[in-house]
Amino acid sequence: MQFPQALETVLQTLERMRDETGHRPCASRMALDALNQISSPRKIDSLEGHAPSCPKNNLGADPPSRDYGAASSAAPSKTEKTDKLAAVQTRVSVCIKCPNLASSRTQTVFGVGNPDAEIMFVGEAPGADEDAQGEPFVGRAGQLLTKIIRAMGFPREEVYIANVLKCRPDVPAGSFGNRPPTPREMQTCRPYLMEQIDIIRPKVIVALGAVAVEGLLGTRAPMRELRGRWDSFNGTPLMITYHPAYLLRNQSPSEKRKVWEDMMLVLERLEKPISEKQRNYFL
Ligand code: URA
Repeated sequence: MQFPQALETVLQTLERMRDETGHRPCASRMALDALNQISSPRKIDSLEGHAPSCPKNNLGADPPSRDYGAASSAAPSKTEKTDKLAAVQTRVSVCIKCPNLASSRTQTVFGVGNPDAEIMFVGEAPGADEDAQGEPFVGRAGQLLTKIIRAMGFPREEVYIANVLKCRPDVPAGSFGNRPPTPREMQTCRPYLMEQIDIIRPKVIVALGAVAVEGLLGTRAPMRELRGRWDSFNGTPLMITYHPAYLLRNQSPSEKRKVWEDMMLVLERLEKPISEKQRNYFL
């Protein structure tokens, strides 16, 4: 095993201990400094946190919490965001927190788009097409999502697209289709999504479907009760709408119209002009 991978395994074990026991492991300043001298995909120093039991040298890995909307933190540049995302992506690419997914995936599917995006779309998990291509939402549902994004007036590259899970949920060999992520898989992968959101700082997040809502908010409810109204994710406005795969299964114009109305709410929130053509649009 390469050193960075071995180090990642140690960090992931410490994170699991923290998550399962509620106790934050500690490391001495010397140990952190020594680790930082060794080239690694993860910057160990950034893991220092505020556990009361070890105020200076805590090795917890929650992304630093951010006061959204606070004027105190200077806005990072697009280049900084790009670099930070690349560092998280490197960690994700060697993640083995879910051994079954790590061994079944072709590759991890991190996210795609503008690191400085105003809108971030969050889906469920990669499917077979995404697993093969390494990019979220490239299959049939992805094509519909791209159509929706374009109808909103954005090129696909202008928004950011990610999933709650970065690995395709494994299915028995020879079987077709996808399976939804388990709650444990979502909980395990959630810190990566949190980091992505924390770096990108979108003005609006759009959760696509009930699984994305569960991954983001930890709540389960029927989509007809959730969609079409503003929620909040750590202070960032969150719009919940149907997953494009649902629209492919249910071709009813009224369901498609609902998604479009949700997207118009997003445009209004971003203070984007909505043309007459857009108002009358049906997906
Ligand atoms: N469905 C999702 O939720 N995400 C993808 O990337 C593809 C399909």
